[in-house]
Amino acid sequence: MANTKYVFVTGGVSSSLGKGIIAASLAKLLQARGYRVTIQKFDPYINVDPGTLNPYEHGECYVTDDGAETDLDLGHYERFLNTPTSQANNVTTGRIYQSVIEKERRGEFLGKTVQVVPHITNEIKERIKILGKTGNYDIVITEIGGTVGDIESLPYIEAVRQLKWELGDTNALVIHLTLIPFLSAAGELKTKPTQHSVKTLMESGIKADILVCRTEHELSEDLRRKLALFCNVKQEAVIESIDASTIYDVPNLMLEEGLDKVVLQRLVLRDDDEPNLDKWNSFLQRHKNPTCEITVGLIGKYVELQDSYKSILEAFIHAGAANEVKVTIESIHSEHLEDQTISQKIAHLDGVLVAPGFGERGIAGKIKAVQYAREHKIPFFGICLGMQMAVIEFARNVLNLPEACSVEVDDKTAFPVISLMEEQKTVTDMGGTMRLGAWDCKLVPGSKVAEAYGVEEISERHRHRYEYNNEYKEALENAGLQTTGMNPKTGLVEIIEIADHPWFVGVQYHPEYKSTVANPHPLFVAFVKAAVQQSTKKVNTKVS
Ligand code: GLN
Repeated sequence: MANTKYVFVTGGVSSSLGKGIIAASLAKLLQARGYRVTIQKFDPYINVDPGTLNPYEHGECYVTDDGAETDLDLGHYERFLNTPTSQANNVTTGRIYQSVIEKERRGEFLGKTVQVVPHITNEIKERIKILGKTGNYDIVITEIGGTVGDIESLPYIEAVRQLKWELGDTNALVIHLTLIPFLSAAGELKTKPTQHSVKTLMESGIKADILVCRTEHELSEDLRRKLALFCNVKQEAVIESIDASTIYDVPNLMLEEGLDKVVLQRLVLRDDDEPNLDKWNSFLQRHKNPTCEITVGLIGKYVELQDSYKSILEAFIHAGAANEVKVTIESIHSEHLEDQTISQKIAHLDGVLVAPGFGERGIAGKIKAVQYAREHKIPFFGICLGMQMAVIEFARNVLNLPEACSVEVDDKTAFPVISLMEEQKTVTDMGGTMRLGAWDCKLVPGSKVAEAYGVEEISERHRHRYEYNNEYKEALENAGLQTTGMNPKTGLVEIIEIADHPWFVGVQYHPEYKSTVANPHPLFVAFVKAAVQQSTKKVNTKVS
């Protein structure tokens, strides 16, 4: 631990300023200089994890290899750094309290009164240091969710204050992310909210070392000087974070502003070499210079909130760059897909992706979308619930079992082609009890997926309770729905395909969680490639 340095990221003025992206961008720059870096996030809500939350609350629930259901910021960390995160990288207030209360029940506090200070704050400090203690990291960046001044953030701020004092100035620092609003009536950028939020932090005993200022307009030298003087930081520690057209520009913007240098100097770490961002920049080059454009329909029921499908949208950016294609996503609400509108909503698409989801709402529209894509030979990608919908659609319309269903939707169905997994039948707690995290899968040689992955054994992340019912496997296969990926130990079906179709693949797992800038996911890359072919075919048919 002595050698690990700690960087804390707090937020002020407003939420949604992009602390996660700033943390990930700083980590990227430090990694590109050869440092071993990880990022963790503390969320001040009482849910033990976000697994039971509706996506409308905080967006998608991200899943790690070790089966943790986490905040979507961990997705950004992995996509930027290309290193896996784990349960230790995301902790909520609920988890902190749960663990303190369990210790109290075991009598570990030896008769003491258990209090927020020191027991809750000690638990927070332990969980901050846990990653440093592994010896795997030179720098641990800890993002504190919420905004300073919030009642629920107080124990975290106090824990940071104590740690900063214990570790000493050269081992820990605080970056405060704030907003510099632009008042158009006055034509001016305003520093006052930042001054107030830095003061709020001071009231809790923490002096911000670096200010990262979100702004729509460039910060002048005068304004930087004013911020430095009134917020008590060095002028080079006032970092402008101007709105960017893509989050993937932010590491370069932070490099220009010298954020990594200020951090390294303050932590007395080597800062002479320049970060090597060659691979990152070649991705950006491809992302920004596409040779053609395709349109993919994303069929889901949480489409009003883009963050609900964050990892899928980002995986398309990676796969688009790999193919040098601009992928335009058309979000289509599955509840709005009716027989009369389906053709108008789907016919023009180059690819159809049916998204993951839970419950009955919007199911009918998803099945219609699958049928349209299957019958009109539009490349199709079904993820988790999307794969289950593809099995139901095939059973209903090809096997002629019109009542075929998932027991999640109809637990009395006579044809449960998607059924509850055996080990789920006795589950009563909803939190953390799905089939979660990384599981192995063996691919059938010669299949589209084996071709896309280029290997025959893979490991992918899961988050579901229901599964393909093997009792229908033979009938479905004989009718043309191939099973091309299986769990080698349990025989659970992981992947379905249709051979007589340009690209029709459904996966029970979530490939989107493993797509990164450095490693675009092979199935997204293959799906985008198939969609490009579909788009070329459409153009050729129009011309001839
Ligand atoms: N609701 C389905 C299940 O639990 C699918 C879950 C998902 O799409 N992540 O099996």
